[in-house]
Amino acid sequence: MAKASKATKYVYLFGNNKADGDGSMKALLGGKGANLAEMTRIGLPVPPGFTITTEVCTYYYANKRTYPKQLQSQMEAGVLNMEKILGKKFGDLDKPLLVAVRSGARDSMPGMMDTILNLGLNDQTVLALVKASKNERFAWDCYRRFIQMYGDVVMGVQKRPDEDHEPFETVIDGLKKELFPKEDNVEDTRIDTLGLKELVRRFKDLVKQRTGKNFPNDPWDQLRGAVGAVFGSWMNDRAIVYRRKYNIPQEWGTAVNVQAMVFGNTGDRSGSGVAFTRDPASGEKVFYGEFLMNAQGEDVVAGVRTPQPVAELKKIMPGAYNELERVRKTLESHFKDMQDFEFTIEEEKLFMLQTRNGKRTGVAAVRIAVEMVTEKLIDWQTAVTRVPAEQLDQVLAPVFDRDTIKKTEVIARGLPAGPGAASGKIYFNAERAVEAAEKREKVLLVRIETSPEDLRGMIAAEGILTARGGVSSHAALVARQMGKVCVCGASALQVDYHAKTLTVGNQTYNEGDWLSIDGTSGEVYAGEVKTAPSEILQVLLDKSLDPKKSPTYLNFAKLMDWCAKATRLQVRTNADSPEQVANAVAFGASGIGLCRTEHMFFEGNRIDAMREMILAETTEERKKALAKLLPYQRDDFAGMFRELDGLPATIRFLDPPLHEFLPHESSLINSLSDNIGVPAAKISKRVAELHEFNPMLGHRGCRLGIVYPEISEMQARAVFEAAAIVQKEGIKVRPEVMIPLVGFPKELQLQIEVVNRVAAEVQKEQKVKLNYLVGTMIEIPRAALVADEIARDAQFFSFGTNDLTQTTLGMSRDDSGSFLPRYQELEIVKQNPFASVDQSGVGKLMQVAVELGQKTRPDIKLGICGEHGGDPSSVKFCHKIGLNYVSCSPFRVPVARLAAAQAAISDTKSAAKKPLKKKK
Ligand code: PEP
Ligand code: MG
Repeated sequence: MAKASKATKYVYLFGNNKADGDGSMKALLGGKGANLAEMTRIGLPVPPGFTITTEVCTYYYANKRTYPKQLQSQMEAGVLNMEKILGKKFGDLDKPLLVAVRSGARDSMPGMMDTILNLGLNDQTVLALVKASKNERFAWDCYRRFIQMYGDVVMGVQKRPDEDHEPFETVIDGLKKELFPKEDNVEDTRIDTLGLKELVRRFKDLVKQRTGKNFPNDPWDQLRGAVGAVFGSWMNDRAIVYRRKYNIPQEWGTAVNVQAMVFGNTGDRSGSGVAFTRDPASGEKVFYGEFLMNAQGEDVVAGVRTPQPVAELKKIMPGAYNELERVRKTLESHFKDMQDFEFTIEEEKLFMLQTRNGKRTGVAAVRIAVEMVTEKLIDWQTAVTRVPAEQLDQVLAPVFDRDTIKKTEVIARGLPAGPGAASGKIYFNAERAVEAAEKREKVLLVRIETSPEDLRGMIAAEGILTARGGVSSHAALVARQMGKVCVCGASALQVDYHAKTLTVGNQTYNEGDWLSIDGTSGEVYAGEVKTAPSEILQVLLDKSLDPKKSPTYLNFAKLMDWCAKATRLQVRTNADSPEQVANAVAFGASGIGLCRTEHMFFEGNRIDAMREMILAETTEERKKALAKLLPYQRDDFAGMFRELDGLPATIRFLDPPLHEFLPHESSLINSLSDNIGVPAAKISKRVAELHEFNPMLGHRGCRLGIVYPEISEMQARAVFEAAAIVQKEGIKVRPEVMIPLVGFPKELQLQIEVVNRVAAEVQKEQKVKLNYLVGTMIEIPRAALVADEIARDAQFFSFGTNDLTQTTLGMSRDDSGSFLPRYQELEIVKQNPFASVDQSGVGKLMQVAVELGQKTRPDIKLGICGEHGGDPSSVKFCHKIGLNYVSCSPFRVPVARLAAAQAAISDTKSAAKKPLKKKK
C-alpha cells in the first residue's frame, strides 16, 4: 500500500517562468504536467497552475478512494500561488480566479476524463466575471458550459441507453426551438444572454432531477469533485480498454492539472487551436494545425464545428500568428521532436496550454526521424528509436490500385487524417461494426463524429470516415495512433443514424453497402476498390516503381541502413517457398530461421504421394511413396538456396501429426481412393488409427522421424542433394537441419545419426563437400531444462515459442481463444502470451536454456522462430537474453529489424549512463 509520509510533495507548482517540476518528470507529473512545467521554465506563455502527482492516484486506489491528508493544504498553496501571480482570488466576488482541471497520464489517454473548464463559477462569481470582462454574454456562456461539463463528467448526467442525444444538448435544442420556432440548425452563438441565463437554470434543474443533488456552489467543493472525477476516470471502461490495447500498466495512474483559465471565447479577437510543428500525417515540415475563432479548446477537439487551417490566422491576427510561429520553432529546438500543442488566444495574446510529442502515422514517423537527422536536430541513433517498431507496418500498408481508382467516382472529400487505402462495408455504429468484423466482413465505420465510445468499433474497422471534425478530432488522433485509414470532416455526407443511411447529393447508401476511402488524399469513393501494395513494396518486391521517385522508400531505406549499423541481433524469416524468401531478403532478412517442410507437401499432387506414404503398411511401401516426394522437396530447397544466395537456411523436418494430411470427410476419402487406388475402407481405417485425443502432445515432431526414420532420410537427402546442385552452380549454400520437439538428448542423437549418414552418402555420390549444421528446436520445457545435455549434440538451438508457450502454460495454442480475452481483461496475463513472449514464465525457461546451452557449447547459435519473433517487445527480450537472431514472417522483417536495432541502441545508451565499476 502506498504510504504517505509527512514530507511527501503531492502538488507541483508552475507559473511566472518558474516551476517545481520539469519535462523529465512524466512518471510523477504525467505528460501534460511535466511539459507545462518545462514550457514555463523556458519562458513560454503558460497560464500558472499546479499538478497533483500520479502518486496521489496510486494512494487513492490503495486507500479506498481517499486522499493523503496533506493534499488539501498543498492544493491551497497551489491556488494561492496562482492568485498571487494573477491578482485574482478563487471564489472572489470581485476578481474571481477560474481554473481548468485536466487529467494527465504519463502517455495521453483518449479514454479518460479530459477537461473541465471555467471551474470556480457560481451564481455570485458569474456576476463578477460579467463586471471584469464587461461582457455579459461571455460570462454566462462560460457558466453554462461549466455546468454542462461538470454535470456530465463529474456528476454523471449522461445519455441513457434509451436516449439518442446528450441530455444537456436536448435542453439546448429545446430552448432553441422556443426561441427560433421556425428555424433549424440554429448556431449556439445566437442564444443571447437572457437565453443563456435560462439555460443555466434549466441545466441546474436537470442535474437535480437526474442526480438528486444540487449543483455545487462552493468553488472548493467544485475543485475537489473535479479532482475526484479525474482519478475516478482512470478506472472507467474506456480507459481500461485503451490501456489494454496500448499495454499501459494500471499502476501508472494519472496526474491532475489545475490551471488558471484563459479565454478563447471572449469574442472575435480570441480563439483556440491545436497545431503540430510538422504535418502528422505525411511528416512534411510545414506548420500544420487549425483553430476556431471565439471558442474554447474543447470545441476544436470535439469536432462539433469544423475549424480553419492555422495559416488563416496570419490574415486575421498577424501578431498572434507570428508569436505562434516563434513558439513552433522554440518547441522543436527545445524538445527536439515534432510537437502537438494546444493554444488559446485571448484578446490577441497567445497562451500555451499543452505540448507533447505529436502522435504521427508510420510514414510521418519515418520521414520526421530521417529529416531531423539531416537538420542536425537529432543523431541517427535517436532517429532509430523515434519510430515505434509496431508502426513501421503502416509504411508497408496498401494503397488503392492505381488503375482502378482512376475510374472510380469520388463522392466526397474530407480531411486526410490517417494514410492508406481502405475499402469496406459501411456501418454506422460501433457495436454493429464489431459484429460484422467478427463475421470477417471488411468494415468501414462511418460516424457523424466519433467519441471515445466508438473505440471498439474503430479497432474493428479497416477505416474510419466522419462527416464532421478536423485533423485533431478524436477520430483522427485515435486512427493515426492505431494506424487506421481515416478520412474526417467529409461534410458532404449526411448521416442518418436512425434510418442507417448515408446520403451524398441525391445518392443514398445503406448500412452494408461498400465504400472506399483514401486516408492520404481524403477522398471518398463509391463501391469497393481493390488495394495495391505500398510504394515500398512496389520498389522492393514488384520493382514497378523507381526508388528515386519515391521519397517514402528513400526514407525507409535510410532508416533500415541505420538499423543495420546498430543491430547485434540478426533478423531471419519463416519461409517455405522461394517467393517468400525473395520477399524477406528484399526486406533485409539475413536468412531463413524456419522452413516448415510440411507446408511443401500440400501443393498440387504432392499431397497424394504424402498420403500414400502415410497409408503404407510396410517400410518398403513407405520408401516408395517417399521417393515420389523427394524430387519435389529437392526442387523447393534448391529454389530457396538460390534466392538466399549464401545466406543460411534452417530447415525443419516434418512436425505435425500425420492425421493432418489425411481427408476426414467421406466424399474426400472416396476421391482420394480413386486417385491413388487404395480402397476407401482402408483409408478410413487408417484415419481412425491415427486419431489422437491430444494430437499436439501425440505422435508428432521428432517422434515421427524416430518411429519412421525413412521420413527423415528422405528429407535429409532432399536437403543435401539440393545443396549439392546449387553449390555446383557456384552459389554458396548453408543448410541448417533442425529437429523439432526434442525433449530427450537421445531423440536428437538418433536423428543426427540419420542426417549425418545421408549427408555423407550424398557428398560421396555428388563428389562435393557440404558445410551444414544440425540443431534442434527448444519447444518443450524438458528441452530447456536439460539444454546442457542437448547442447552436446546440437550445434544450434531455435526456440519454438509457439509450442513452448503451449506446453509451459498448459494452454492450447488453438483453443485458448475462448478464455484468453477474459484473462487479458482481468490482467491475469498482460498480453496474449501467444503474441508476445510471457517473459517471466516462458522467458525464464528460455534464459535457463541459453545459460545451460552455452555452458556446454559456448559458441552455440541461438535463435527464435515462434510467432513471437516478429513482436517488438519479444524481439527486445531476445536481444536481452543474448540470442543471435529472431525469425519472423517476411512482411514483419522490417519491424523486427527496427526493434532489434532499438534494443541495441538502448543498451549502448544505458551502458554510457552507468558509472564504470571499479574492479575489486
Ligand atoms: C513453434 O512451436 O514455435 C514453432 C515455430 O513451430 P510450429 O509453430 O510449426 O509448431
Ligand atoms: Mg512447434
